[in-house]
Amino acid sequence: MAGLWRSEYYWLALIGLVGLFAGKVTGLYFASLCLCVVVYLVRHLYHISQLLSWLRSGGKLPQSSGIWEEIYYLIYRLRRRNKTRKKRLLAMLERFRTATAALPDATVVLGARDEIDWFNEAAERLLGLRKEDIGQQIGNLLRNPKFAEFLSGTNYNVTVNIASPVIDKGQLEIRIVPYGEDLRLLIAQDVTQTRFMERVRSDFVSNVSHELRTPLTVLRGYVETLGDSGQDLPEHYHKVFRRMEEQTIRMQKLIDGLLSLTKLESGALAPAKRVNVELLLNSVHDEARLLAQDAQTLDLRLESSADLLGIEAELRSAFSNLVVNALKYAREDGAVTLRWRDDAGGAVLEVEDNGPGIAAEHLPRLTERFYRVESGKSGGNTGVGLGLAIVKHVLTRHEGELKIASTIGKGSCFSCKFPEKRLVRG
Ligand code: ADP
Repeated sequence: MAGLWRSEYYWLALIGLVGLFAGKVTGLYFASLCLCVVVYLVRHLYHISQLLSWLRSGGKLPQSSGIWEEIYYLIYRLRRRNKTRKKRLLAMLERFRTATAALPDATVVLGARDEIDWFNEAAERLLGLRKEDIGQQIGNLLRNPKFAEFLSGTNYNVTVNIASPVIDKGQLEIRIVPYGEDLRLLIAQDVTQTRFMERVRSDFVSNVSHELRTPLTVLRGYVETLGDSGQDLPEHYHKVFRRMEEQTIRMQKLIDGLLSLTKLESGALAPAKRVNVELLLNSVHDEARLLAQDAQTLDLRLESSADLLGIEAELRSAFSNLVVNALKYAREDGAVTLRWRDDAGGAVLEVEDNGPGIAAEHLPRLTERFYRVESGKSGGNTGVGLGLAIVKHVLTRHEGELKIASTIGKGSCFSCKFPEKRLVRG
């Protein structure tokens, strides 16, 4: 680098000497020196114009020497590096596009106004998008009220199920993943087969339960009759009849629970019919009192005047399950409180007991079918493990949420939180 500047200084010195010499010969020092500076400037201007035309049109690197040769070379190197980087980026982009194009799920990049920026091949197949749709708002192309509500919302942890606009009887599960600034990725998965299998399973369980119901009722009748008519039989036989009756009752409970679950499983939201919560809870409370042991207390506190929008029978079954559980698992002199109160963004029904509590490791699994905590009282024959699964499904259908808080030795609190849109006030 220093060498390059040195040659430039030599050039300057040489031009200066020529100027001085010309000044000495002509006697016009100033004019001669000015002329030399002009010549020097013209040389640089020439190189600048060469550089500009090369930058504009590319092509062969202009020939030069000294500092200008270095400038050309450095710019050339920079350009070549950029070109390589661009090629690498393009190749990466191409690889990404090929990968996303091969994805079985429809993938659509949405801009800030929900306009389509890009989509893959699966989106053509599943959503019926075409190249001309780029720039169009997705809501105008996927016309579905459920999808429109989902798109305008901001809760991206949930998914929405809609019918495919192009595949006959096709079902899509759509999720939105926000990324970058104001950009969102819409992913639609074809769940037709999964939904079909779920329906087959649910129909099977429902049919089997229906078919078992009648023979079981007959069996229970016979067992009861045998128990009643065998007065002269030894006590041992009575014990056997009682056990048989207990087990048939348990099987009937199982079948009823499975039938309720299959009905609730559809995933559809419950129709919004006004349910008088005060009346409902009073009746749940009165029914539950009949089950309570003498020393147990059951308190009802109605702190909110809000009513619910949903199906009364389903809500009754969910609330009863919680209260019956609380009494069932509480101590013999246990205290159970049923509280309906307002909460941030809605209202909540709490069922609190001072029973044995549930260990933290069981809490996430309590709403699974047939999940039971095998310890102490709950390990007996008291339940079938479907109650909380039913509660969870009822709440899902009412856009509510079940929260369970429990401390071993102190008690449990089951809270059913309902959003404001499921409430009627006044
Ligand atoms: P079950 O028919 O066994 O009561 P559930 O689904 O209603 O089925 O409850 C699942 C399990 O959760 C129960 O087996 C019990 O161990 C536990 N459980 C539910 N409610 C309570 C409660 N209030 N206190 C302690 N344990 C409870």
